[in-house]
Amino acid sequence: MPNTDSTGSIFTRLEAYGHKKVVFCSDPDTGLKAIIAIHDTTLGPALGGTRMWAYKTEQDALDDVLRLSKSMTYKAAISGLNLGGGSAVIIGDSRKDKSEALLRKFGRFIKNLNGEFITAEDVGTNPRDMEYIRMETQYVTGVPETIGGSGDPSPISALGVFMGIKASVKELFGTDSLTGKSVIVQGIGQVGENLVKLLRDENVKVYISDINEEQTARVSKKYGAEAVSNNSIFDIDADIYSPCALGATVNTHTINKLKCAIIAGSANNQLEDEAVHGRLLLEKGILFAPDYVINAGGVINCYSELMGFTKKRTLQLTENIYEATRNIIKLSKSENIATIQAANKIVEKRIADINKVKSSY
Ligand code: NAD
Repeated sequence: MPNTDSTGSIFTRLEAYGHKKVVFCSDPDTGLKAIIAIHDTTLGPALGGTRMWAYKTEQDALDDVLRLSKSMTYKAAISGLNLGGGSAVIIGDSRKDKSEALLRKFGRFIKNLNGEFITAEDVGTNPRDMEYIRMETQYVTGVPETIGGSGDPSPISALGVFMGIKASVKELFGTDSLTGKSVIVQGIGQVGENLVKLLRDENVKVYISDINEEQTARVSKKYGAEAVSNNSIFDIDADIYSPCALGATVNTHTINKLKCAIIAGSANNQLEDEAVHGRLLLEKGILFAPDYVINAGGVINCYSELMGFTKKRTLQLTENIYEATRNIIKLSKSENIATIQAANKIVEKRIADINKVKSSY
């Protein structure tokens, strides 16, 4: 059981987040300690990644899975997918504690949920791990392309972010051409590097920053992007800040320093406090393209795999992020609410409407 002060606190949390079900998976033989959280299944089965991380405490693991699964509900709903939200975490060091047996045992726990939860890769897991899970259950996506899966979602995620940037630029500059614009990409990992490529293809001035110096040097040379130190990114005068590394980089301190007009990136949970910082950005006139809206390419890729869609259809669905972002901005302006609030409003209405449809037959 998680390391909570009392069992009551777990249920208080579930109630606060609005979760439907949380499953604790333990298998001493393989060392498996995992939590599967199913947040909402109104729109369809709960889909979400399995993260493997050496959490300091079991409480941290529980908090992470509750937060991640709720955001999956919102991400799938805003993208118009027929999916609910869920997530899983495996407690352990992915470099040392992962084994075929552990992953297959975990796969059996997913199997027992009879399709209520479908997983995919996340931090600390990869397509090969999904293949092991697939040996025990069909309820897994993101398996390698060589065995019929959708493979690496990062290029699709980057395309979604690119669409979100374009929609935001259209709002502020009247055209969605990015020529002549400048973008700071913080974190040039799998999504960041693909985004740099898309931006450079449109002649955008790109600044990059990453804690991995080798990666920074390589990407800078390959695409002609200017490398900047992580400490100085908030001092740079660029049109767009694109956080593609970590969450919570948008906070009171950074908002006061930021010189950009737009924030649009792939990192999950960019606002340290959704209500406070969403509002602060609105007041400062900085346009925030909500993270879960524009980084939905990965979940769209998984959905396409489940539905057997073609690559063309996956790209079309991802390109719809442009329109989704435009609609959110429109609502934010007409109601004078933060863009993140506008996005939440659209999601919550869709779920409430479909709940009514379901209860009517
Ligand atoms: P990644 O691990 O490949 O890349 C992250 C990069 O950020 C790494 O190069 C790392 O060195 C760098 N980084 C870490 N800490 C940093 C810091 N303090 N400052 C600057 N750089 C730092 O991850 P990814 O798959 O590219 O995902 C990037 C972000 O987008 C993550 O927050 C992830 O949750 C989110 N996301 C990814 C996908 C996807 O399809 N991969 C989909 C949706 C959301």
